[in-house]
Amino acid sequence: MAVKTDIEIARAARKQPIQEIGRMLGIPEAHLLPYGHDKAKVDQAFIASLGGRKRGKLILVTAINPTPAGEGKTTTTVGLGDGLNRIGKRAMICIREASLGPNFGMKGGAAGGGMAQVVPMEEMNLHFTGDFHAITSAHNLLSAMIDNHIYWGNELEIDERRIVWRRVMDMNDRALRDIVVGLGGVSNGFPRQTGFDITVASEVMAILCLANDLADLQRRLGDIVVAYRRDKTPIYCRDIKADGAMTVLLKDAMQPNLVQTLENNPAFVHGGPFANIAHGCNSVIATDTALRLTDYVVTEAGFGADLGAEKFFDIKCRKAGLKPDAAVIVATVRAMKMNGGVAKADLGAENVAAVRQGCPNLGRHIGNVQGFGVPVVVAINHFSGDTEAEIQAVKDYVADLGAEAILCKHWAEGSAGIVDLARKVAELADSGGADFAPLYPDEMGLFDKIEAVAKRIYHAEAVTADDAVREQLRVWEAAGYGHLPVCMAKTPYSFSADPTLRGAPTGHTVPVREVRLSAGAGFIVAICGAIMTMPGLPRHPAAEVIGLDDEGFVEGLF
Ligand code: ADP
Ligand code: MG
Repeated sequence: MAVKTDIEIARAARKQPIQEIGRMLGIPEAHLLPYGHDKAKVDQAFIASLGGRKRGKLILVTAINPTPAGEGKTTTTVGLGDGLNRIGKRAMICIREASLGPNFGMKGGAAGGGMAQVVPMEEMNLHFTGDFHAITSAHNLLSAMIDNHIYWGNELEIDERRIVWRRVMDMNDRALRDIVVGLGGVSNGFPRQTGFDITVASEVMAILCLANDLADLQRRLGDIVVAYRRDKTPIYCRDIKADGAMTVLLKDAMQPNLVQTLENNPAFVHGGPFANIAHGCNSVIATDTALRLTDYVVTEAGFGADLGAEKFFDIKCRKAGLKPDAAVIVATVRAMKMNGGVAKADLGAENVAAVRQGCPNLGRHIGNVQGFGVPVVVAINHFSGDTEAEIQAVKDYVADLGAEAILCKHWAEGSAGIVDLARKVAELADSGGADFAPLYPDEMGLFDKIEAVAKRIYHAEAVTADDAVREQLRVWEAAGYGHLPVCMAKTPYSFSADPTLRGAPTGHTVPVREVRLSAGAGFIVAICGAIMTMPGLPRHPAAEVIGLDDEGFVEGLF
């Protein structure tokens, strides 16, 4: 039997009009701003009116370190939301929007997979409701105003060598990584070197995802450090007077997007910050609104739990006052085998010993997440080639740690395949067993915070950094930024900074090469390895085979 592709399944979905999905959540039609028939934004007035309501239970879906075998966090997030609804709970999901550029490089979507998807998936992966275009415009308005300020006399005394605000666009274009602007003569300004990042790497994206409301959004935009003077004092977005106009450009993008799953359950798809130089979760406004509309909210954090869950807890939950009630760690038999040393080409053969050997990677994530005071259950995302003995090996390993691993078949079966996990998650969330606390207090020194993450989450021996990096952290502490959390930018493939080191390494050192201040978003980025903020396209980009078929459907995208 030919397995249907994600796009075939998504196109066959029997979608409800979006007003109907809003009605399930108790959102009056007057407060839904429809974008076509199957997407809508929820307006600010309605969101503001929810302030007094009690929040439901918050469930985080995270995972082991990603491997090329694929883990399925989004697929499991969507499946679990459907599963909870299936067992009679009022639940919704919150996930990130997709970046447009990468779709034209490699095939792949961000709306889940198989029978556990959010629809309309094509639109969600392309222009959707235009949020990312608005973020691109707001970011570049500030860029233009900085160069314009210099052109008209540079009253703020911006040191042109110390402008840290670049430009963005939502396209993989390596040619724009480093560029010279202002060429062509006196009327075009002053030539200087700068560059482009992809839109999801913009601090504006991180800000939109952490802001509580429009007033908070404008305050945070104003706080962005755009450049320094010769004496190294900072110049803020507020000094350039761009924060008001940027807020105007972002006012619609700040409203969460309501869509539905294949099983017609509600989903917010909103915001999409990078998971390395930013925190990698959907917006606070979407999560908070969802918590006031339903009893259970299932959400996802990017990468594995060492980066994704840690930032979800230490940045998003800390800042938004969210208290997660349970966490699901997604693991697969295939990924356990890869962590146990099996090459991707050999994943087809049964290898229980390798599964056992790879399990300590999962074990460490379980301990780490429990360390935040959040009860954990493991979801084994079933792939068709998994054998009974291999699945049992994972279950036994997790049981030995005093936790439970549950086999889930939502990819193949939709909500019917994930009922056991849904029951367990509801039980954990309702048990009141969670006692969430972030890893470190606000008052801890910045370098100590980096060390806390490296030692307690990555199980590293030490953190290394140049004097210049340590001095920079001290300067920021003196300037009043010492209370900020740290945002680690490290390879997602390993607990260490070496992507080839699988399993559960110990004794490694974490080298902090560079630190950056995201004063508007409200974190200090610690860069531990090569971080790419403008991707390129592969030799044969997916764009070469993307087109419209005779009926006007998109071909070659997924
Ligand atoms: P993540 O969110 O962890 O990056 P996704 O949920 O987006 O992962 O899944 C990545 C890819 O793997 C998707 O194309 C999805 O269709 C596929 N996938 C997920 N689970 C399964 C499964 N159980 N069997 C086969 N393919 C799967
Ligand atoms: Mg995902």
